[in-house]
Amino acid sequence: MSTSQDDHSIPVIRVRGARQHNLQGIDVDLPRGQLVVVTGVSGSGKSSLAFDTLFAEGQRKYFATLSLGSRKRFPILPRPDVDSISGLPPTLSLSQHRGHLSLRNTLGTTTEIDDFLRQLYARAGVVHCPHCGKVVSSQTSEQIVNRVLQFPERTRLMLLAPVWDRVSGANLEELFDKLVADGFVRARVNGELYDLNDAVDISPADEHTVEIVVDRLIMKEGIQSRLQESINTTLRQGDGECIVTTQQSGEEWVDHFFNERFACAECGISFPTVHPATFNFNSPQGACQECGGLGSIVLSPKTGSPESSANRIVDSNPCPKCKGERLNPLARKVIFEGKRFSELQRFSLDTLLDFFEHSLIDNTATADIKTTAESTSCFVPDSVGSLAAEKVIPEVKSRLHFLREVGLGYLSLSRQATTLSGGEYQRARLASTLGTGVTGACFVLDEPTSGLHARDTGRLLNVLRQLQNRGNSLIVIEHDLQTMREADYLVEIGPGAGTQGGQLVAAGSRETFVTRDTLTGKYLQRTHLETAPTSDSKDKPSSAGQLFVKGIACHNIHQLDVEIPLGQFVCFTGVSGSGKSSLLIDSIVPAIKRFLRNEPVELKLQGAEQIERVVQVDQRPLGQSPLSTPATYTGLWDIVRKLFTRTREARLRGFKSKRFSYLSAEGRCETCRGRGVEKIEMQSLTDLWVTCPTCGGKRFNAQTLSVRFYGKSVADILQMKISEAAQHFDKLSDMRMILQTLQDVGLGYLTLGQSALTLSGGESQRVKLATELSKQQIPRTLFVLDEPSSGLHPADLEQLIVLLRKLVEQGHSVWVIEHQPQIIAAADWLIEMGPGAGEGGGKVVAAGSPVELSREGGTATGELLSDWFG
Ligand code: ADP
Ligand code: ADP
Ligand code: ZN
Ligand code: ZN
Repeated sequence: MSTSQDDHSIPVIRVRGARQHNLQGIDVDLPRGQLVVVTGVSGSGKSSLAFDTLFAEGQRKYFATLSLGSRKRFPILPRPDVDSISGLPPTLSLSQHRGHLSLRNTLGTTTEIDDFLRQLYARAGVVHCPHCGKVVSSQTSEQIVNRVLQFPERTRLMLLAPVWDRVSGANLEELFDKLVADGFVRARVNGELYDLNDAVDISPADEHTVEIVVDRLIMKEGIQSRLQESINTTLRQGDGECIVTTQQSGEEWVDHFFNERFACAECGISFPTVHPATFNFNSPQGACQECGGLGSIVLSPKTGSPESSANRIVDSNPCPKCKGERLNPLARKVIFEGKRFSELQRFSLDTLLDFFEHSLIDNTATADIKTTAESTSCFVPDSVGSLAAEKVIPEVKSRLHFLREVGLGYLSLSRQATTLSGGEYQRARLASTLGTGVTGACFVLDEPTSGLHARDTGRLLNVLRQLQNRGNSLIVIEHDLQTMREADYLVEIGPGAGTQGGQLVAAGSRETFVTRDTLTGKYLQRTHLETAPTSDSKDKPSSAGQLFVKGIACHNIHQLDVEIPLGQFVCFTGVSGSGKSSLLIDSIVPAIKRFLRNEPVELKLQGAEQIERVVQVDQRPLGQSPLSTPATYTGLWDIVRKLFTRTREARLRGFKSKRFSYLSAEGRCETCRGRGVEKIEMQSLTDLWVTCPTCGGKRFNAQTLSVRFYGKSVADILQMKISEAAQHFDKLSDMRMILQTLQDVGLGYLTLGQSALTLSGGESQRVKLATELSKQQIPRTLFVLDEPSSGLHPADLEQLIVLLRKLVEQGHSVWVIEHQPQIIAAADWLIEMGPGAGEGGGKVVAAGSPVELSREGGTATGELLSDWFG
């Protein structure tokens, strides 16, 4: 199929014969330097085109340009299944997949703003003396000599030049050689004194703190001139720092620390120089010793399978030493413009931007000072500090500005990356990319509006436009109508999912697209909802009752009381950061769960006895490894394994159920240990997975594969689409039940053995929902869903809404956090949080039926709905 790219003057990315996954030989020309939106129902092949074809080819081309040396560490990347791609600029992906984040990743580290702040604090920070409170300043070597001369007579002295950066065992020998060449005779390593000319026996693997011994003196009359010279040498070697070790007869050696730059003029106390690493809680120089830089002490982690523990929130207490600041005592003393490093970490980004806009140093430009930071001999802290600030602050401000533009101003730098939603994480990376000023690249994004209230979409689009104006091309997978209406060019993949999709349904400019008779074209033509909204009769909560919750306090919510209808479809709305998750996911739902387990509840709950069970369906991955699949997660695989053991073949060979699990040593392929893929660790890039060369992705060994059931091996079944399996096994009621519900939630296009790592957040959520639905139904269940619209085309949403309504008809309660207008409009009752984000939010600004909210107006959701209802 050809596209309507008539204007040959526009440079294009030309794709011919794309066949990756379900794509059926797509030919398409995507205009460069424009905002291209790729849309289509879920499973139609959008990601297969945007990520697995375009981005994969861009990445492959990038590796091909690497030098041979570094290339050896990487495999030859498989070519995506495509005849040709031309005109593709260097390609970067901003997906919602977070790779492997740990507690050590925060918003500050992820956006690299912390790197700049560390520089700022190391260069422009000041320390106050703990005794007299004065700002620590500089002292001359004469002052140091005078202080040393005050030691009692006949004190033995040794001068040490500290080497603060820790030296690894491998570099130690090199350093010693250099020291010997420079005429030194001794060094103190890890507190022990060594003669440099002796072959020293220091364990090579460890990290060492090395101090160079410059001289050994005994205090007596007339040593002043010699002392001055020695101290000068030591200070030069120690980069302005020096340790004087003293010993009086029969006693221990005692260290006295001196620093030319950081000393209290009043009481003479010196402090070590701070380096950027001093403010890095992920480095040994910066981390609080007590908690290792985590800021909290983990309490008795319960044992569990690796998969459940990866998702589990561990109980922890704030570290008693650093009080959660994560940094060592020195780093906690340094201040810039009256604030400590960790104070800035806890500000909201909006407040932080304000702080830097008004910070003085930025405005007192000291252009006349030409000192370079390196020339320590003429080190003037204040001028160097302000020079550093002058360079660093604009970088920090520009990044903060973009973070605010993408609607994340309510977050703080200290926020753990693992607690960000997929959408927040992607937008944070988008903002940092803008901050770095990349030009001429192609960006592939996955639903950047996810988690964003319609009110903020405009600003996000603005940011995308700025990226485009720098000469970048944007390829964005998106279902949001507002974004589609903004696009320069639209591509629709479809018409259905899986084998029913994979074709180019339409491609063209926004203007031509709305006239098309395609699924997306039709939605774009709609200016408002055609189906009448739920009537006013729903205005009053149904007879199923209500839940009253009193005294909610969490994050930005302070002492809030709410009433939530039960037995209804309730939608929690509000701009992002207003407190929807804090209210529902962090406060009310855990309280109900504790109530049901007869555990003490901090909140006042009234009406919770009307709930029998809580089922929470989130978007977190089914598991962290390719070992989790829809088949294992739903419990279907246990049924399949049992069926296989009953085959003649299995009974003859004595194969038990374990044999047919790719987790067991006897059944699985040993090369990939049942994963079907092998992981290649990439430095600074997300890990890469390639198909296992031994089993070709089948996960099992040859003996296991020789057993067949209904003509299929275990691997054949894993490779079946859910819709195919439903047909193939429709006589087996246990299996049919699970397979049918998976189809009902719109996942018929997934294969049973698709790795959890390749599922989107929305797909994972629907697998979880289907698993719950296929279980024995307990009446009066409360279903809680966080943004179920994610990853779904408006056409998919209709299906989801039907499913949610069905649950309500069966007497269950459905509570949903959502931004998508179609879903909000279909709810029985809305609870809107707001009015703003962060401390500007945290209140219920409106509650009522969608019709009521749209009539009342005045709130973000009200406005949105009145637009929809027309
Ligand atoms: P969309 O992005 O439109 O939701 P995808 O491109 O993710 O759709 O999927 C299109 C089809 O390709 C689906 O049938 C899906 O199951 C299949 N698919 C996606 N990723 C893989 C993969 N890694 N291996 C095999 N099949 C895949
Ligand atoms: P929403 O769900 O409406 O987007 P949230 O409840 O996630 O809003 O956030 C409300 C406020 O609480 C924000 O200021 C957010 O930064 C803060 N917040 C949310 N989760 C955490 C957390 N785990 N730690 C600290 N602050 C949080
Ligand atoms: Zn600590
Ligand atoms: Zn294998």
